[in-house]
Amino acid sequence: MKKLGLNTICTHVGEVKDEQFKGAVSPIYLSSSYEFLDVDIKRYPRYFNTPNQEYLAKKIAALEHTEAAMIFGSGMAAISHMFLAFLNKGDHLVVQNTLYGGTVNFIKEEFPKYGLEFTFTNGYKVEDFESAIQENTKLIHIETPSNPLLTITDIRAVAKMAKSKKILTSIDNTFASPVNQNPIDLGIDMVMHSATKYFGGHSDICAGAVASSAVHIEKIWNVSKNLGGSLSDMTVWMLERSMKTLGLRVKAQTKNALKLAKWLHKHPKIAKVYYPGLKSHPEHKLAKSQMKGFGAMLSFELVEGLDAYAFQKALELIKSSMSLAGVESTVISPHLTSHALLTPEERQAVGISDQLIRFSVGIEDFKDLKKDIDLAIAALG
Ligand SMILES: *Cc1c(COP(=O)(O)O)cnc(C)c1O
Repeated sequence: MKKLGLNTICTHVGEVKDEQFKGAVSPIYLSSSYEFLDVDIKRYPRYFNTPNQEYLAKKIAALEHTEAAMIFGSGMAAISHMFLAFLNKGDHLVVQNTLYGGTVNFIKEEFPKYGLEFTFTNGYKVEDFESAIQENTKLIHIETPSNPLLTITDIRAVAKMAKSKKILTSIDNTFASPVNQNPIDLGIDMVMHSATKYFGGHSDICAGAVASSAVHIEKIWNVSKNLGGSLSDMTVWMLERSMKTLGLRVKAQTKNALKLAKWLHKHPKIAKVYYPGLKSHPEHKLAKSQMKGFGAMLSFELVEGLDAYAFQKALELIKSSMSLAGVESTVISPHLTSHALLTPEERQAVGISDQLIRFSVGIEDFKDLKKDIDLAIAALG
């Protein structure tokens, strides 16, 4: 079959056909028990192969340009299973220093128990990854764009460098989504997602996914069937429904984000905007060379004297929320949430100021978002 377009994949690939009633959408197979006699596949929910699980994985694989994929009960299940599948006792992982907080905790708290070694890079340039490599390094894990400062890692360069040393690579592609970035085409071996974010897109699903070659996915499956952590078929079905509009949603959100970033960049009460789509972003050219769109996450700093928390509270339309990527716009103050446990000095060292607001841009009309921000700023006096 000729390569399908993004929205066609979102709408059609991985449908479970309703052979019995010819319904328009996938039926939900809730069975936790399937016939065991004379069948090729031993189906069982924890084997990640019920009809709904198996077929939705095809949609994710098609979106990430891979042979295979697996769906998990959360993004953390996806990432932890992937790491545990490719790292054995005594192996070493190189990870980007600017990483999702849950992934950092998983590595720091669980790796020592399994005798797994790790190094966080000093930066996000290819040299930073290369200099962290040891003789026992088996995997390099990157995250780009990163949270919350939207730094961009050179995907091609890291993948090429790793390949030359026969080291596997993985990426957390949650922020960009396959709508804006296809890391497999740039040489990365494995792509993972928190499907809680853009895949779900409506702030009502917790799920995760990994996409890669059939061989790598089988290796992960061998670990996952022991660990558990599959997604319930009810939620798989909801996720399939959500993903039909992934392309439409993320494109609309990305468009809004670029407009907002440009507007905020010129705003007298905004000191700084972090968005890879702006020419002022230090890795704008790199972002352009590896992303199809710049994503819908951005951060900005209010000018000194304007309190970030008071600003957040003064917003009416834009909600304060820990999570991100829903169709509704949300904000958080990283210094009060994801980075609250660091000292002010530590925060300063990683570039998180008390003036920083992280913005997950939704699908609302641009003029209404602008107005909400302006009214909140005005309310601060
Ligand atoms: C939310 C998130 C995760 C973790 O996903 P869960 O579904 O919450 O387990 C991992 N990486 C990134 C970038 C995220 O935003």
